[in-house]
Amino acid sequence: MRIFETHAHINSDDYKTDRAAMLQQCTQAGVERILDIGTDEPTSRAAIALAEKYPFIYAAVGYHPHDAETYNEAVIRELITHPEVIALGEVGLDYYRSLTPKKLQQDVFAAQVNLAAEYRKPLIIHDREAHQDCMDILDAQNAKKVVYHCFSGDVAYAQDVLEKGWFISFTGIITYKNSTLTDVVRMVPTDRFFVETDSPYLSPVPHRGKRNSPAYLRHIIEKIAEIKHLPPNAIAEMAWENASNFFLKS
Ligand SMILES: [Zn+2]
Repeated sequence: MRIFETHAHINSDDYKTDRAAMLQQCTQAGVERILDIGTDEPTSRAAIALAEKYPFIYAAVGYHPHDAETYNEAVIRELITHPEVIALGEVGLDYYRSLTPKKLQQDVFAAQVNLAAEYRKPLIIHDREAHQDCMDILDAQNAKKVVYHCFSGDVAYAQDVLEKGWFISFTGIITYKNSTLTDVVRMVPTDRFFVETDSPYLSPVPHRGKRNSPAYLRHIIEKIAEIKHLPPNAIAEMAWENASNFFLKS
């Protein structure tokens, strides 16, 4: 099984003391590609540094809605042309925690959607309880290459995302007992989904509550396989192909 981890914060301080050992475990678990995600300037720079160090790591740069107050367009323009940067993200809107004013979140998100178009980079979207505003901003800029990271909507919303030609990415949340995403996993076409852990957060069952690692992606893949009645190897390979085409081909 070869696995493409499409969303992890490898740059997180949570891995400060044992990052190399953790990455070694990922390799042993079949994780052959990892997209390391930035959420502000320091983490975006750290993601690039890790991508330069490890041949199987790629970087995404951007300002998360929680970090909208530190937004600096010049930083994105500087980092996005780096050869290891394959996407702009994670960016979006978060009305669940609303750590920054809504209007600021919207302005910072719209500005980054514009930059993604200008530099022809895929967008990694963080949307928490902001479905309509998120879609309105993406539509206003006619965004084409889009993935909804850690998808948390219902089937109707998934249909809207898929109709636009966009992608949906699943985390360990689908393994939780109270998950409402089973129907979304069932309906998503096999050529339109990715897998991710969002490490160090959201550990899948049976690691729930502990620090997450891309090495645990197998549990997410097995859950999708169970819901879709397909072999885990086939699910891993589909997710690999989908993500490779999306992120690594222009
Ligand atoms: Zn994330």
